[in-house]
Amino acid sequence: MADGYELTEEHLSFREVVREICADKIAPRAAEIDATGEFPWDVARTLADNGLLGLHIAEEYGGSGADTLTFCILVEEVARVCASSSVIPLVQKLGSMPLLMAASHEQKQRWFPAIASGGDLISYCISEPDAGSDAAGMRTTAVRDGDAWLLNGTKSWISMASASSAFAVLAKTDPDAGARGVSAFYVRHDDPGFSVGRAEHKLGIRGSPTCQVHFDDCRIPGDRLLGEEGRGFTYAMQAFDHTRLVVGAQAVGIAQGAIDAATGYVRQRRQFGKPVGAFQGVQFMLADMVTETVAARQLVYLAAAKADRGDDDLTLYSSMAKLKAGDVAMRVTVDAVQLHGGYGYTTEYPVERYMRDAKITQIYEGTQEIQRLVIGRQLLGRLS
Ligand SMILES: Cc1cc2nc3c(=O)[nH]c(=O)nc-3n(C[C@H](O)[C@H](O)[C@H](O)COP(=O)(O)OP(=O)(O)OC[C@H]3O[C@@H](n4cnc5c(N)ncnc54)[C@H](O)[C@@H]3O)c2cc1C
Repeated sequence: MADGYELTEEHLSFREVVREICADKIAPRAAEIDATGEFPWDVARTLADNGLLGLHIAEEYGGSGADTLTFCILVEEVARVCASSSVIPLVQKLGSMPLLMAASHEQKQRWFPAIASGGDLISYCISEPDAGSDAAGMRTTAVRDGDAWLLNGTKSWISMASASSAFAVLAKTDPDAGARGVSAFYVRHDDPGFSVGRAEHKLGIRGSPTCQVHFDDCRIPGDRLLGEEGRGFTYAMQAFDHTRLVVGAQAVGIAQGAIDAATGYVRQRRQFGKPVGAFQGVQFMLADMVTETVAARQLVYLAAAKADRGDDDLTLYSSMAKLKAGDVAMRVTVDAVQLHGGYGYTTEYPVERYMRDAKITQIYEGTQEIQRLVIGRQLLGRLS
């Protein structure tokens, strides 16, 4: 297959299994997870017990070595019922990516089995209070100190930080060298000088803790450097190539969940003596919602296949998948609220949660504006 993707029997049966787990264990908890804002350890355990937190890790390191499309199906199905819970596998992969790309065989043997089993959740730390879209402007530093590294600085917006025991951290080893001065490290929650700050109060994905993490003369052993010194920013950007499309899968799942809710509602809600779904204006809205969602899903699955084939246009397709799916999720969830009328504006129905959750897919792992910049640059190269 030169291009495109193939949804195999294995993918379809995997989807069925995940759907059952979601219906049984995650969907019934979704509203409560959102309302309390507490990290759902029960969901993390369910995912771990079913081997779903190590899909992206090779069998030799304790994972199941599944392809990217399988991973997207997992995130999509979980997001369809609970976006907060879908952040767990999504970030598990994001945090693993610098290790997948740069860690030595010996480092992988040491760290991956615990990640694959879900014993360790791993967060990804690149953003800082003053370095978001311009991540290369980070100020966190890592300085050699004998056999060790000393890390200093603050990372912001770190998903799952209070639940994770491992952290992939980007820090400047040469503050004057811009992006070329960034290196990647593996840090543990009990390393001296490491601490997690308060959790943010958020609009959506409220059951996914987002916190600052602090490095105050945080001392880590010398063998925690991942790959080559000075190559960290390259690893970080390559990681996004593999995970932006997964945010796309999350967005598709959220959109599909909102469509499920809206189609159910318009069948039973009656006005003017008939179900509101009988009105053409309502059917037109639903037609656009489902068409856009299916289109976004195709782009996400295509990008997933490109990730597995190692296609050289992955950067382009991964950004397009996130851009399209995130914008679709936002529009579709707003329309799902609209189709519920006043009831959609209350927590009695799930669509307001879907609408709030959808917004993050337009912000994290690079905002939609940054995706457009990436896409433009892929098309035109760097013009000056
Ligand atoms: C809930 C949540 C979870 C997150 N999880 C993580 C995580 O696990 N790990 C991690 O490292 N980070 C994480 N982030 C950080 C996230 O990736 C950043 O918030 C995002 O990259 C944007 O950075 P910023 O917030 O500093 O916005 P800014 O970069 O300050 O952007 C502000 C606005 O300016 C626009 N803008 C900026 N530059 C340009 C430009 N060149 N052209 C056009 N428009 C531009 C942006 O699109 C945006 O609209 C998370 C964020 C949130 C909210």
